[in-house]
Amino acid sequence: MIETEIKEPEAGRVFPALDPATGEVLDWLPRGGSAEIDRAVREGRRAFEEERSWRQPATRARVLNAIARAIEEQAEPLAVLECRDTGKPLTQARTDVTVAARYFQYYAGWADKIYGQQIPLGERFLDYTLREPWGVCGQIIPWNYPLQVSSRLAAPALAVGNAVVLKPAEEASLTAVRLAEIARAAGLPDGLLQVVTGYGEEAGSALVEHPGIDHLSFVGSPAVGTLIALAAARRLVPISLELGGKSPQVLFPDTDLDLAIPVIVRALIQNAGQTCSAGARLIAHADIYGQVLARLKERLEAIRLGPGLEDPELGPLISAAQFERAHGMTQRAIAEGARLVSGGARASGHNLDAGYFLQPTLLADVVPGSEIWTEEVFGPVLAATSFQEEDEAISLANSTTYGLVAALWTRDLSRAHRLARRIRAGQVFINTYGAGGGVELPFGGYNRSGYGRGKGQEAILTFSQVKNICAAL
Ligand code: NAD
Repeated sequence: MIETEIKEPEAGRVFPALDPATGEVLDWLPRGGSAEIDRAVREGRRAFEEERSWRQPATRARVLNAIARAIEEQAEPLAVLECRDTGKPLTQARTDVTVAARYFQYYAGWADKIYGQQIPLGERFLDYTLREPWGVCGQIIPWNYPLQVSSRLAAPALAVGNAVVLKPAEEASLTAVRLAEIARAAGLPDGLLQVVTGYGEEAGSALVEHPGIDHLSFVGSPAVGTLIALAAARRLVPISLELGGKSPQVLFPDTDLDLAIPVIVRALIQNAGQTCSAGARLIAHADIYGQVLARLKERLEAIRLGPGLEDPELGPLISAAQFERAHGMTQRAIAEGARLVSGGARASGHNLDAGYFLQPTLLADVVPGSEIWTEEVFGPVLAATSFQEEDEAISLANSTTYGLVAALWTRDLSRAHRLARRIRAGQVFINTYGAGGGVELPFGGYNRSGYGRGKGQEAILTFSQVKNICAAL
């Protein structure tokens, strides 16, 4: 059994970590509840208040750098663990590990550069601001990128000087648990990063309701995000929400298709489409629409599927429930009049039968406003439509309640920059698509994709609060 920060779960209170490619039980994890959360929050408070070394910015920088190095040293076993637990192809899991290390390295760089301001009030006053940690940060994350997202949230929170209690998703917790072990072994004082495994309605809800939590971060679905925001509002706890998306790829007639097609395919099938920032809608100018669909069909039908450890291009969906959701949405779209260009069915044969594999799917002539156009599938399903006028393209791009990421494809750069301002999304890419961008780029949503920002310098601001100090001289 994997050792976690919870040493003694109640007898029998465990749940399985499943391999989505085979259904096999990989491990058993403690099924944490309010008792385990309470213990972790108290321990976090103790560490935050008593661990004086953690008040030294240079110490935090050194320890975060050590964690980054330790992640790099254990890159391959971590990637294999992530691959088996989430089902994602090994190459993608390796990238996740590299990015996780990069978060710790990047925020190590920030730890001793978190400046306040000196505000001029004339010669009779000295006024300055401090950026202070919140205290104990509660963080709840989804199953699609457990190692990346736990690093994305924990590293900046720790860099500012907070303690963190993190609840990974029950579908994939193993690398988050391992991350806390790696961090402690690399020199992070006890209690500053604790991972409590368990179900959302038990451990998750106990974390959200705990009076000892000073700041909440949630990455997951809008439905659960709403519940958590309501609970945070009742206790007036600050919260940052990173929710889903239905991100558009907008292609003008002058698109370089040799450049665009592989990027669009990658942005669709990465992690089997189970990516909040997946490019899930295609909006192509009528002059190139047919050609774009034909090229996408050719590429999608050549995609190699398989279990993550065989390092295919496309792995399985995480669970039976996720498969049913994606498949059901595809079938309903076809019933509502969408034209199936490729895929649409369960992939079978060879080594696919035991896993939840959905063929990469392209649906054309989708009706804007229909379910497949507006709701997140979280599977490798691309919904396409065409436009004639620039204004129509922008209104189609903005026609869902989400607003996480968007891409504009055109050789006319003044058009691209002009239109980027009209897109309602937290990140807009021009002639590229970063699926959430790099560690350095602010990330978060407009509209129902959430509020607050992670990554880059913004995360340092998210995980700190400002104090103004004014003295009469
Ligand atoms: P989810 O909302 O079902 O679960 C996310 C987390 O919340 C899990 O840890 C779960 O255990 C916990 N949870 C569930 N119910 C809870 C409750 N009542 N109280 C407290 N915690 C609870 O989401 P998911 O299915 O794991 O992930 C998929 C969703 O996450 C998608 O909508 C996706 O777009 C989104 N996502 C967003 C980002 C981003 O950065 N914007 C990144 C990854 C995933």
